[in-house]
Amino acid sequence: MLPYTLIEKKQHGKALSKDEISFLVNGYVNKSIPDYQMAAFLMAVYFKGMNADEINAYIDVILNSGRRISFEDKNTFYADKHSTGGVGDKISLILAPLAMASEKVKVPMISGRSLGHTGGTLDKLESIPGFSTQMSLEDFKKQTDAIGCALIGQTDDLCPADKVIYSLRDVTATVRSIPLICGSILSKKIAEGIQGLVLDVKTGNGAFIPEYEQSRHLAEQLKYFGEAYGLSVSPVISDMNEPLGDKIGNWLEVEESLDVLKGGGPAKVRELSIVLTAEMLSMADPGRSHDDIRKELETLLDNGKAYEAFLKIAEVQGAEVAYLENPSKYPSSEHIITLKSPASGTIFGIDSYQLGLDSIDLGAGRRTFAEKIDPKAGLIVHKHVGDKVEAGENLITLKSDKKNAIELLSREVVSRFTISDKPYISKRDFYEIL
Ligand code: URA
Repeated sequence: MLPYTLIEKKQHGKALSKDEISFLVNGYVNKSIPDYQMAAFLMAVYFKGMNADEINAYIDVILNSGRRISFEDKNTFYADKHSTGGVGDKISLILAPLAMASEKVKVPMISGRSLGHTGGTLDKLESIPGFSTQMSLEDFKKQTDAIGCALIGQTDDLCPADKVIYSLRDVTATVRSIPLICGSILSKKIAEGIQGLVLDVKTGNGAFIPEYEQSRHLAEQLKYFGEAYGLSVSPVISDMNEPLGDKIGNWLEVEESLDVLKGGGPAKVRELSIVLTAEMLSMADPGRSHDDIRKELETLLDNGKAYEAFLKIAEVQGAEVAYLENPSKYPSSEHIITLKSPASGTIFGIDSYQLGLDSIDLGAGRRTFAEKIDPKAGLIVHKHVGDKVEAGENLITLKSDKKNAIELLSREVVSRFTISDKPYISKRDFYEIL
């Protein structure tokens, strides 16, 4: 087989066999296929898609590029949540300890790094000094069973194909593809050995798949292919027409998660964390009422148990918990600029895709494989869609060590907000449980 002819075949919209997909994916993992050919193949998939057999084969090949975990305790319900990616989406940092604190499920969570314009749970966790996201799969299993949760990144023996393809998609604008997203998410989640998967499928201008109908299709596809592997899958479609919460950037999002874990934080971040965790608990115990589950989760946030669970995970994974107990100890960016609203009115829209890219320019994400993230960098949004604003009021704060980038962006970022003098009417609910 020649990579060239397979790229050409997909470029012409033809279906590839499982052997052909395996040749490309495994060839990329073992480095017999170079970045440029894999990038060309991914771009062909981006434009031409994959049929159901190809998607199944693609998931299977990525899954079998590494090991698959299996938990021995058959009385425990193992579950995880995954998001299709958003701006300011820090829900995993809240959901995992919240679910752990409930003691109704165990959460073996394998997360990714930042992707395209969106942040990644791993980068957020690694912004906590000392927090290690790498451990052997044996230790991962042991920790999950011992304390109820472990938070790691793909290891070399777990979906190594996704690890390398993910990094390549990140820098080649090939993330926005339903088959590639299905392969990436489901392979990792099936490999975790879980029974239940809650999916947060983002829709709107900051999502990889912005159009609602397409987001719904992605949710249905993820459910369909996940269930084919024996998982219980519960997709929730949630709004990404504005950043989730106030803070965008790795450490900034840890800070905001801590606020929510201590019973505070932005209402939408708290609400979505509760909704997604409730889906998980409801899968584990389908007979239990939603009201009852919700009340329990609210209590666990308000009484500090979810926060304690997060500290426990962090401590076991080597973090210097003093920074979590006292976030003001964390170093601050060299440059901080707050931009004011140029007009009075109502916030009609926020271009969250562009704000995600802005956060990368400030240092919160990578533009190339090699680039290092600045964990302190990011943005704080002071006004959200539907909020009233007066001319001269604070709109957004930029934080960065990069003088040129912050100066340039300070002339542009206000334009990410659409301010109108008309009344704002929301078009869709904040979330929808499928
Ligand atoms: N999250 C993933 O893990 N993979 C994708 O492709 C998109 C979001």
